[in-house]
Amino acid sequence: MTKSPLKKKILRQIETQGPMTVADYMGLCLSDPQAGYYTARNPFGAAGDFVTAPEISQIFGELIGAFLVEAYERMGSPGQFHLIELGPGRGTLMADILRVGALRRSFLQAARLTLVETSPRLRNIQKQTLSDAPLAPTFATHVQEIPDGPLLLVANEFFDALPIHQFVKTKRGWRERMISCDHDNALMFGIGTAKLPDEAVPRTLTSAPYGTILETQPAANAIAEQIAARIAARGGAALFIDYGYLKTAAGDTLQALRNHAYDDVLTHPGEADLTAHVNFEALAKAASTGGAHVFSPLEQGEFLLHMGLLERAGVLGRGKSHAEQEKIRDDVERLAGPDQMGQLFKVLAMSGSDAPFPPFDSLPETTRRTEASR
Ligand code: SAH
Repeated sequence: MTKSPLKKKILRQIETQGPMTVADYMGLCLSDPQAGYYTARNPFGAAGDFVTAPEISQIFGELIGAFLVEAYERMGSPGQFHLIELGPGRGTLMADILRVGALRRSFLQAARLTLVETSPRLRNIQKQTLSDAPLAPTFATHVQEIPDGPLLLVANEFFDALPIHQFVKTKRGWRERMISCDHDNALMFGIGTAKLPDEAVPRTLTSAPYGTILETQPAANAIAEQIAARIAARGGAALFIDYGYLKTAAGDTLQALRNHAYDDVLTHPGEADLTAHVNFEALAKAASTGGAHVFSPLEQGEFLLHMGLLERAGVLGRGKSHAEQEKIRDDVERLAGPDQMGQLFKVLAMSGSDAPFPPFDSLPETTRRTEASR
């Protein structure tokens, strides 16, 4: 079996330090400075491994731009604020946001743009994408480096790339799932000694059968809490969009994508995208702990429709050829269709004040508190 440089590194680490957590494995696979997936590859688009919402249609970013401009005005149009994106990929979403932002001169004049991105390769692509944009980005590696002041922040498909831990229910409690290797150097899952404290196990899972997997994502929750604390202290709003579930539940959601197809998570470390579904209940709780006002998560389809997806699609298609109009209709379906991204993806919004933003203000209470399944 041929071994990629990252696989060699992982095997060496297991040999010298013992089995590694799923979180350490995910961190190495995605962000290793030499061979991590985001460091070494350009994963997006038809030639890459997956297509994200902003890469499907400009309308996605335009509607988020409209949300942010509205939020800016509800903040009282401050003279300066930080416009932040976490994990901007190719920079497409920010380019679309800025095109809408440029329609409000005060928004554009007040905005200072910071992109939080670890991959030097993707930073270069983001710079190129934004070369004609009305604002030039400053880069940060960590959320802690975001400059002081009010902020408007967006993160699309960022949290799903942050490391998760997995715990397996055994006769001796919930034990951490680990990765080791067999005699042929194939990576394999096993069970370690670290135990999830009983109080961290939701009551609904106390009688779950042995072998049940429970995931935690402390890195994501810590970032949500930090951002919320900033927004509570200095004002602003944030929008987190990702695929995930609304209520803590058991299940193994770790998945690998390679060339638009599912791949075994242990077979091609660093060569496949590795993600996990985001637990929006935990993310919302962390944001509340940080002190921000947190709105009930919405499904992406519901969010986009309330933000004017169909109206914008109509305007975009006006005067276009039949084929172009068909394409716009397909894109709308991909973004908001219930069996496409519309239901699987969720949107979590938070703000420094409890004045709801559109579309959160126009929803009846019952819709805002949808019970969800995975
Ligand atoms: N938002 C983009 C791309 C999502 S892919 C889109 O919607 O198309 C995830 C992005 O997060 C990539 O840009 C990746 O390099 C970045 N990323 C992953 N882990 C990160 C981390 N810990 N800190 C900062 N950026 C990270």
